[in-house]
Order: sequence, then structure tokens, then C-alpha cells
Amino acid sequence: MESVLVVGAGYMGSGFGQVCAQAGYRVHLMDIKAEVLDKAMSEIQWSLGKLGSKGLLRDSPETVFERITPEKDLSSAAKVGRVIEAAFEAVELKLEIFEELDRLASPETPLASNSSFIPPTRIAQATKHPERVLGLHFFGPVPLMRMVEVIKGEKTSPTAFEAGVAFVQSLGHTPIRVQKDIPGFALNRIFSAAFREAVDLVADGVATPEDIDAGMELGYGWNVGPFVIADNSGLDTQVLIGQTMVELGLEGFASRTDLIRQMVKEGRLGRKAGKGFYRYTEDGKRLPWGSGDQK
Ligand code: NAD
Repeated sequence: MESVLVVGAGYMGSGFGQVCAQAGYRVHLMDIKAEVLDKAMSEIQWSLGKLGSKGLLRDSPETVFERITPEKDLSSAAKVGRVIEAAFEAVELKLEIFEELDRLASPETPLASNSSFIPPTRIAQATKHPERVLGLHFFGPVPLMRMVEVIKGEKTSPTAFEAGVAFVQSLGHTPIRVQKDIPGFALNRIFSAAFREAVDLVADGVATPEDIDAGMELGYGWNVGPFVIADNSGLDTQVLIGQTMVELGLEGFASRTDLIRQMVKEGRLGRKAGKGFYRYTEDGKRLPWGSGDQK
């Protein structure tokens, strides 16, 4: 059975852990925080139970769950067939992680980052084997959003790139080949431009998040609007993405207002905190921020 090390067990990492195990991979799921790992394992177990009860799993939920081993360090990089990194969005942190992964993993082991904006070419600079570094940009929630940008860094070998495409397909996801490595790749540049405008319109009092979301859904055929997407992804992650954009010289993509940073200071982190651009009931129902008792 092929094995995968997933670095970071937050929103994206726990999703990778689950879909890789569902596809039959043995998964080493690593995070520096024990409580994050515990939460990820129990959420995966709950989600597998739900999928199993609907007949949506190939194997039993127990068999799939047993494929996942929680890890507190990167040492399993030495024995796995591939690594996907999903730690916080920060250039220096990713460089440190890839420097260590490069040292521990065999030179043939592909090392992928799920960064939202950082080019794999930049991340590969921390390694001695840049030809095996690539971007695999998944979308959240990973088990539901079945599309992945596969990003070729300047030094990524054709073999590592095509192996990345095949890996994505083996998970039942659809790969989109990004042949030229630029910050934000293809789809995040498009989303970020729309999201920047949406946030600034709300900050300027032009329209509410729910009206903009409804407009994008009904007028442009988006399945969900930009504020639903942002709340699901985590507004703290959106702040880190904004900082990374500035660090990479892409100020033009970042919101010109301080709205999201201010919301994060107030604990409005999105769905995971029960409050963001919307508020959420205990059972996960999304309600407009201004409705009922939103504090
Ligand atoms: P998250 O905050 O939910 O999880 C990040 C995890 O990284 C945390 O659990 C943290 O403890 C862990 N971590 C920090 N330092 C670490 C280290 N040295 N080693 C191992 N783990 C470490 O964030 P997320 O939303 O899962 O985002 C992870 C990555 O995926 C980011 O690069 C983000 O830009 C990208 N991404 C996020 C989304 C999204 O919708 N949230 C979508 C696509 C890509």
C-alpha cells in the first residue's frame, strides 16, 4: 500500500488525510499541535461514519480510519512515497519545513505544497532536490471540492509533475495543469481579485455579504458566493494569505481595507468559530450576521 505524509492537520490537512485514506493510501498525518491532531482524527472518524452510512465509501469506515496514523514530527518522511504540506501560509515556515523534508526524504520522493499563493519554485529553493518539488493546490473542503491545481515549478521534473497529476486522479479529483509558476497560480488570482472587491464593497458599506453572495450565485452562476467560501476557509487563513501576497509583491490582490484583520481580532474566524461574515448555529446552519443574537 502506498503511503503519504501530510504535514499540518488543520482544515486542509485533515481533508487530505481523509481523501488519501479513502483512496487506499496509508496516511501519516502530522501536526505540531497535539490538540489539532486529536480534533482532526475525531472529525475524520465522524465524517467517514457519515459517508459510510450513505454507502459512499469503497471500504468500511473502520478500515479507512485505521489507515491513518497521527504523527508529531516529520520523521516518517524517510519512509513514505509522497509528502503533501498544508501548514500555515507563511513563506519562512514553508522554507523551514521543506528544508527538513528534503533532508529526511529519499531524493525521489515527491514533495508537494498546498500553499495558496507561494510558488513552488520559491519553496524549492530551500531544498537540494528542487526537481521533486511541486504545487498541489487543493480546494476546501477537500472531500467535497474535487479539483486540484498541479503547479510546475521552474525546476520541477516532467516526471514529478506527471506523477502529481496521476496522484490527484488516484484520489478521484480532477487535475488542472498550471504550466508556468506564478504567485497565486491560476485560480487563486481570479478568486482573490473578486474577493478583494467584495470585501472592500462591504467595508465601504456598498452592500452586505449576503446580498453580494446572492448576487454572485444568481447573477454569475457561482455555486456559493465569495463570503461563504471565505468563512469556510477561515478568515485567519485569509489574513495570512493577504500577508503572503504583500510579501510576494502582489499588493494589488490584497484588500485595501482592514476589515478581515479586524474581524479576526474580534474572534470572527469563520465557520470554525461559529462567526465570520455570517453566524452559524450549533448544527452548522448559516445565518446572516445581523440576524438574531450575533454576539
Ligand atoms: P489551518 O490553520 O487550518 O491549519 C494549518 C496547520 O498547520 C495548523 O494546524 C498548525 O498547527 C499546523 N502547523 C503550523 N506549523 C507547523 C509545522 N511546522 N509543522 C506541521 N504543522 C504545522 O490552515 P489551512 O486552512 O489548513 O491552510 C493550510 C495551507 O493550505 C495554507 O498554506 C493555506 O494557504 C492553504 N490552503 C488553504 C485553503 C483553505 O480554504 N483554507 C485552500 C487552499 C489552500
